Amino acid sequence: METGEIIEIFAESGFQIDPRALDAIKTSSPELIHDVLKSIDSSVLVVGIEHIKPQTSSITQKTRVLPEQKPETPQTHDVPPGRGINENPVTILKDITNQSTCIGEYTEFVQYFKDRYSSLGDMLRKRMGARPIESIKKRNLDTREPLSIIGMVLDMRTSAKGHKLIEVEDTTGTIPVLIHKEKDKELFEAAKRILLDEVIGVTGTLSSDGNIMFANKITFPDLPNSQKSMLPGKKTGGKAVFISDIHVGSKTFLEDAWLKFVDWLGDDINYLVIAGDVVDGIGVFPNQDKELAISDIYEQYEKAAEYLNAVPKHIKIIISPGNHDAVRQAEPQPRFPDRITKMFKSDITFVGNPAMVDIGVKVLIYHGRSMDDIIASIPGFSYGEPSKPMVEMLKLRHLSPIYGGRVSIAPEQKDHFVIDQIPDILHCGHVHTVGVSRYKDVLTINSGTWQSQTDFQKRMNLQPDPARATVVDLASMEYRIMEFDYAK
Ligand code: ZN
Ligand code: FE
Repeated sequence: METGEIIEIFAESGFQIDPRALDAIKTSSPELIHDVLKSIDSSVLVVGIEHIKPQTSSITQKTRVLPEQKPETPQTHDVPPGRGINENPVTILKDITNQSTCIGEYTEFVQYFKDRYSSLGDMLRKRMGARPIESIKKRNLDTREPLSIIGMVLDMRTSAKGHKLIEVEDTTGTIPVLIHKEKDKELFEAAKRILLDEVIGVTGTLSSDGNIMFANKITFPDLPNSQKSMLPGKKTGGKAVFISDIHVGSKTFLEDAWLKFVDWLGDDINYLVIAGDVVDGIGVFPNQDKELAISDIYEQYEKAAEYLNAVPKHIKIIISPGNHDAVRQAEPQPRFPDRITKMFKSDITFVGNPAMVDIGVKVLIYHGRSMDDIIASIPGFSYGEPSKPMVEMLKLRHLSPIYGGRVSIAPEQKDHFVIDQIPDILHCGHVHTVGVSRYKDVLTINSGTWQSQTDFQKRMNLQPDPARATVVDLASMEYRIMEFDYAK
C-alpha cells in the first residue's frame, strides 16, 4: 500500500504514525493494517513501532525493513592485566561519546524536540489517556466532559486578571490552557513550577468554542512511586565518594584540603565519581586569566592528573566533564579527548556529560549547568539548596528542560537529557553548594567544590561549600558528607 494511503487511514482514526512504524507496516496487507489499527489503545497519539510489533514482527524479521539499530550494549571498562576483572567494576550504561550525530541544522532541532516529545509523552501516556489537540478542538464535544492532552510548554504568561496561561503544543497543534488563580489554589501553586519546553499532561474542560482549556489537573512524567519495599537488597556493597568542581588551575583551588581528602581515601572506598569541572579552564568568563594560577589548559590537566593519579590504586575513578573543561560547550558533552585522558592513569573511566554508569548501583552523572536556568525560573529556588532543582529534574524526567537559556543544547537525534532509565543516584555539581536528598527511590547528590569563593561569586553574593565529599554506602544507600579543613 502507498505510504500516503496508510498515513491517511491512521489519520482518519485520530492517530499519527511514526516513520519507522510506517516503514515496518507498508508492505503489509490492508487486513493486517486494519488489525493493527484495531489493537491500538485510543489514548495513543503517535503510533510507534512498539504498537505494531505484535502483528508485524514476522514481516519485519523477514524483510528487515527496520533500520538497524545499535543495541545499547553496556561496555565494561578495560581492566588492566593483573587485576581481577570483578574488582570494583564500572559499566557504562549511557554515554554520548562517539554517538554524536549533530551538525546543528534547523531540521535537527525539529527532530530533537520530536524525540523529547515522544519519549516524555510516552511516559505520560502510560499514566493517562490523552487526545491530539487538534482533534479536541474540532470535535463538538460536551464541554463539561473532562479531556486530557499531552504537550510541550510553548509559552507561559499571566493574564490581565492574574490567571496563568500556558500555550501547550503537541504534534497536531496548540491550545492555550488557563489555570485559574482562585479556583484551585494548589493547582495554581503547582503551575508556578512549570518550565518552558517541558512536556506535561493537562486534564481540563474546554470552553464552548473549543479554543481554550480550563485546567483542573497537571500531570508530570515523574518517577514511579517508591518500590523499595518490594526490592531485594542491592547486589553490591562497597562505598562510593562523590565530588565535583575541583577547578585545578584556579588561584582559589584548595590544594591543602584536596591533599587531606586524598589522604583520607581509605581501603573501604571503592569508587570516586567526579561530576565535571576538573580544571578551571581558560576563557570561560571575562578576565578569568587574572584568577588563574596555571594559565595553560593542558598544564592544568597535567596538574589534575598528578592529583588524581595519587588516589589509592584500588579506587576506581569515573570522570565526566563540565562547562569549565576542554570539550565542546554544547551539551551533551563527549568525554575528554585522548590528548587529555592519556595524562591520567589508565584505569580511570572517562564518560560524557550526562552519562549513566553502573557501579553496583546506577549513577546518573550530570554536571548540572541547567540548574542556572531552573533556579532562575522557579520562585523560591536558590543556589543554597541544590537539591530542589535536582528533584525537579527527576519529576520532569529531564536534566535540562529549558531551551535557549544558559545551556546550549546540541540538537542530537535523541534527547540525551531524558531520564528514561531511573538511576539509584543522581549526581550533579556546577553550583558549588552541597545538598543531598531523597526523592522516591533516588538519592540526589550535589557535591560542592574544591575552590574557595571566587571574585565572581563574591560579586554575585554566592556562598560556596568547598572541600566536601559525599560518601555513600552502596549496600544501604546511607550517606555522610565529609568536610575537610581549608585555610580561608
Ligand atoms: Zn564549577
Ligand atoms: Fe560548572
